[in-house]
Parts: sequence; structure tokens; C-alpha cells
Amino acid sequence: MSAELSKLEWQQMDAAHHLAPFSDYKSLHAEGSRMITHADGHFIYDMDGHAILDAMAGLWCVNVGYGRQSLVDAAAAQMTKLPYYNSFFKTSNQPVAALSKKLAELTPEGLNHVLYANSGSEANDTIIRLVRHYWALKGQPEKRVIIGRDYGYHGSTIMAASMGGMSGMHAQAAQEADFSHIRPPYGFLYQGNQTDAQFAASSAQLLAEKIAEIGADKVAAFVAEPIQGAGGVIIPPAGYFDHIQKICAEHDILFIADEVITGFGRTGYWFGSDMYGLKPDVMTLAKGLTSGYMPMSAVMVGDRIAQTLIDEGGEFYHGFTYSGHPVSAAVALANLQLIEDETMIDIVRSETGPYLAEALTSLADHDLVGEVRSCGLLGCVELVADKNGPVLFEDTGAAGVVVRDHAISGGLMMRAVRDGMITSPPLSFTKTDIDMLVERLRLALDKAVPALLG
Ligand SMILES: *Cc1c(COP(=O)(O)O)cnc(C)c1O
Repeated sequence: MSAELSKLEWQQMDAAHHLAPFSDYKSLHAEGSRMITHADGHFIYDMDGHAILDAMAGLWCVNVGYGRQSLVDAAAAQMTKLPYYNSFFKTSNQPVAALSKKLAELTPEGLNHVLYANSGSEANDTIIRLVRHYWALKGQPEKRVIIGRDYGYHGSTIMAASMGGMSGMHAQAAQEADFSHIRPPYGFLYQGNQTDAQFAASSAQLLAEKIAEIGADKVAAFVAEPIQGAGGVIIPPAGYFDHIQKICAEHDILFIADEVITGFGRTGYWFGSDMYGLKPDVMTLAKGLTSGYMPMSAVMVGDRIAQTLIDEGGEFYHGFTYSGHPVSAAVALANLQLIEDETMIDIVRSETGPYLAEALTSLADHDLVGEVRSCGLLGCVELVADKNGPVLFEDTGAAGVVVRDHAISGGLMMRAVRDGMITSPPLSFTKTDIDMLVERLRLALDKAVPALLG
């Protein structure tokens, strides 16, 4: 490949043959994609030489930041030694055995077995089969329905998208039978005059009502992200999950925690489950598992299910060519080692998390800002048309795009979810990085005022 091709030529080549994920091809191809050439530390660089502060950690995944040599070295060494072998033929490999032990140690008590896949979507598809298979082994094959939440995101395969609560995705051939959804504890939209305790109870009560409607004998599981990420960083009020877990236990319904974003330190704890005191039967892991340096996901299987699979015997006809990929496992081990060596999670919990909360709160006075919320290194700034009320924008999502575009051209990568500006930076983000994030975000808000508040 010639390095002398111009940016425009690269963009045209890309537009001619590449269909990017979650894109409107017509407008994207007219505009041309931003060609990212390299990344280092907390910055990504494009072909124009712009340095952009990556306040999204790639896609909620590059938790240790870019250019970490120990992960690169682990991949190179493993590729040289054993680049691939499957785990189908009564075979396994050392990185996978070591990683499985490590994950069993790190995750909450009772999660001691691991099934591997390559993405969060695949892991959740695996879970859907697993929990239905579990109930079938238990002699209750009619327990099939999985209850999720509106705005939940569990991936983009047909089943994972059906389990998720994104209506736009449902409308595009991802609305399979035996999934149901309840309203999430999204305080900004739904709390009204309720206290946090009331809102926690009333939001959880929706699960009890849904179970009664469907029949507990038909419900296999309830699935939730401890904090909803792609749905807009929706942080539940204290006590919500206590009610939820009680309801699940009462009706003998499995609890699935999708920790694809909240896992591996994002909230200042190893897992969101640690923060909220959750005892999930199954846990989904991906993204931060390898900090995105290699694709890998994992399903943590609780003792109750694992023991049933082991005791009942019989083959679980499930797995992928790349399940338990040795290079991904080696990178995951190096990634977890780095998180531990640099005490990243303690720093998020005691220093940078609280600092981000304070820094974002400094934006609350802005005319465009209706609410600011964060937990660890996950944050959202909700945009409003009028602070009094607050009054939301009529054309949902459009305001978010305006601010996001100003942010990116001002050297700050953030994402807009509806009209919320989302941040999920690398866990290695420093206070200086956070200052830069908030400074650039304020500038983007200011620049958006004429178009949005006119
Ligand atoms: C990103 C995400 C997924 C899907 O992961 P992919 O690797 O994109 O398939 C699932 N669950 C949650 C909570 C996610 O954030």
C-alpha cells in the first residue's frame, strides 16, 4: 500500500467498499470517514494530523489507554508460540486456563466457570442459549422468556438485539419471540417528584408486574447492565438492585449482569456487581477484558448453572472457532496485570472518579445542560432546550449531534446518546486529561448555543 495516497483517495477507497457499523451510508459516504492513523496514550490521530483526546476509550473499551507495550509483547510472544488452536477436541491452552482461573478469582463469589466468545454480542447469544438450556435440563423447558429493559444494550446479533431495548434495532429484523422489556430507572426522564428510595422501589416493581403478566413459570431470566452504557449512562438509584434481586429470587428467575462496560474497573470497582452488591447467576464480559487490543468476550457462569451442566452431562452444542483464542487470552492476562500493577481501579474510585464528577458538575450552570451524572469514569451531560422544566429538545438526538461534532472538531472524542453527551475515558485518564475534557466540552457547548438556543 502506498503511503503517498492522499486523504481523499483513502476516503474514497473506504467509501467504495467498506460498510461501517451503525452508519448511514448515504451521508457518511458523501462526507467521507475520518481516517484514524495511530493512537498513543489518551489521544487518537487522524490523517490531517489532528490529535483528539479520546474521552470514549475507543468504544468504552481501551481502558488502559493506547500504546501499552506489555500487551503488544504478550500478543507477539503468544503468536510466535501458538497463534491458534481450538478448544473443541478435548484440547485447551495455557493462556486460557490461566485466564479462567484469574477471572474466577476476580469476579464475585459463586462465578467460577468461563465460556469464551469474541464479542459482547456473541457472549450474550451464548447466555440466551445457556439459560434456556439450563431450564430444559432442570425439566422446565417452558421457562424461556428473558426480561430486559428499554434502552438496554446487549449487542447487535439478532438475539442480543432482541434482548436489548433499542427500538430502532428491533425494527430492523431483531425482534425475536420470548423477550420482554421494562422501563429502566432513568431518573432524568421518569423520577418526577419521587424520592430516590421511592423511585428505586417503583422501578423495580415494574419487573414484578411483568413477571406476573407473563407467568413466572415462563420466565428464564432478567438481564441488566449495572449501569446502562449505550442507553445513555443510566445510573440506578440506591436500592434498585436490592429490590430487583429479591424479586428474581422470589420467582426463581436467573439474574444476568451484563458487565461489558461496567466490568474491569470502569465504576471504581472491579465489577459493577461489586459496587451494587449483586450476586448474578451469569455475567457478560467483553470490552475492557482485553482493553480492545484483541477481540475477546467471556461468560462467567455461576455455580448453580455450571454444576447442573456438569452433573447432568450431555454435550452443550455451542462454541465458536475462536472461543478461547490463545492470543486474546494472553493479551487479557497482560491487560489485567497492568490494571493491577498501576492500581488503576483504586485511583478511579478514590481520585479520578470523584474528580470527574466534580469537573462535570462545573458544567451544570451552562444554558444547554439539564443534568450531569457520573459514576467512576462513566459520565453523561444531558442537553436541554430550556433548563426550567427542564424542557427537552423536540427532535431527539439532533442537539447531541451538533455538540458532538463541535467537540470532535475541537479535539475531543465524545459520543451523543439521544441528547446526552457521554464520556467513558481510559481508566488511566489523569486529572489533567479530565480538565482538558471539560474545557473542550464547555467550548463545544458554547459553540452549539447559536444553533440550538438561537
Ligand atoms: C458493547 C456492548 C455489548 C456488545 O458487545 P460487542 O462486542 O459490540 O458485540 C453488549 N453489552 C454491553 C453492555 C455493551 O456495552
